[in-house]
Amino acid sequence: MGLFSFTQEIAMDLGTANTIIITNGKIVVDEPSVVALDRRTEKMIAVGEKAKLMHEKTHENIRTIRPLRDGVIADFYACEQMMRGLIKQVNTRNHLFSPSLRMVIGVPSGSTEVELRAVRDSAEHAGGRDVYLIFEPMAAAIGIGIDVEAPEGNMIVDIGGGSTEIAVISLGGIVTNKSIRIAGDDLTDDIQEYMRHQHNIKIGERTAEEIKINVGTVYKRPENLTMDVRGRNLVTGLPKTVTVTSEETEEALREPAYQIVDAVHNVLERTPPELAADISDRGIVLTGGGSLIQGLEELIEEKTGINTMTAEDPLTAVAIGTGKYIEYLADDDKKSKNK
Ligand code: ADP
Ligand code: MG
Repeated sequence: MGLFSFTQEIAMDLGTANTIIITNGKIVVDEPSVVALDRRTEKMIAVGEKAKLMHEKTHENIRTIRPLRDGVIADFYACEQMMRGLIKQVNTRNHLFSPSLRMVIGVPSGSTEVELRAVRDSAEHAGGRDVYLIFEPMAAAIGIGIDVEAPEGNMIVDIGGGSTEIAVISLGGIVTNKSIRIAGDDLTDDIQEYMRHQHNIKIGERTAEEIKINVGTVYKRPENLTMDVRGRNLVTGLPKTVTVTSEETEEALREPAYQIVDAVHNVLERTPPELAADISDRGIVLTGGGSLIQGLEELIEEKTGINTMTAEDPLTAVAIGTGKYIEYLADDDKKSKNK
């Protein structure tokens, strides 16, 4: 970037659970997708981790909001405020000039025109001058170093907080895809639900997520782990501690896990045979935080007969790919200027 060029470039993975911003190839913001607003003035009070800590502990004048649901913007105003707040964190040193802002944002491949419009509008309202969108599975593939331009089929399964995106990529485009509204946060919900049914105990979302991460599995674990959790006894209303086992989580998580497997199956069925053959040679790659649930690789492998592996940094793959895409756009600019 030259001395007098005030174009700033920001790549954003706007996720249901986490938002990551990359500038100059580096992660500069990685925060939960939460914003806290003043109920009366609608002004932003906090964003990201700070806002998440306020969640469920607010008084009547503050409300905390997760602006995205199931991978798409559910609250337009809150989303814009959140983006603005997060972009500000990048721009602290640059207060003297307000540079023209070029943004690339990852969006679900199943987005409707209206949903794409909403992301673009939010980004523009938050200060973006040039706004580009990239489909998340494509960004994930670029992020983990797959040569997406090659005439070869690659399957990416990106499991986020609110949605799972499955796509087959070849020659720089998405050939077949499917997006379902079942992902990591649904696993958490199902653990909460299971505890209520099976143990008559109400546990918080945070506790349910801890169970999922510490002992949760969607496939038989070699050893049956246990964890003691506290909640409220639904019969007496008093605090109660129960022990939950991984075997139990396998039962609790069976339905959402199979919905993900079925969706993978469905995409494979619709994939042209030559590309399907590539995928069975090269394997299926999992990305997104939701892919970290223990046993998912084994389950998909067993049900499809195709080798399945989780990316090295599943939580940042989409963001890194979005960052590489913005560099590619900048190189393209230079080339066209030099012509
Ligand atoms: P999004 O792109 O929707 O923001 P992420 O890719 O950031 O989502 O993934 C968030 C999801 O990953 C959450 O549901 C979270 O509970 C889940 N997650 C994160 N770490 C783990 C883990 N170690 N095991 C299981 N699930 C995990
Ligand atoms: Mg994501």
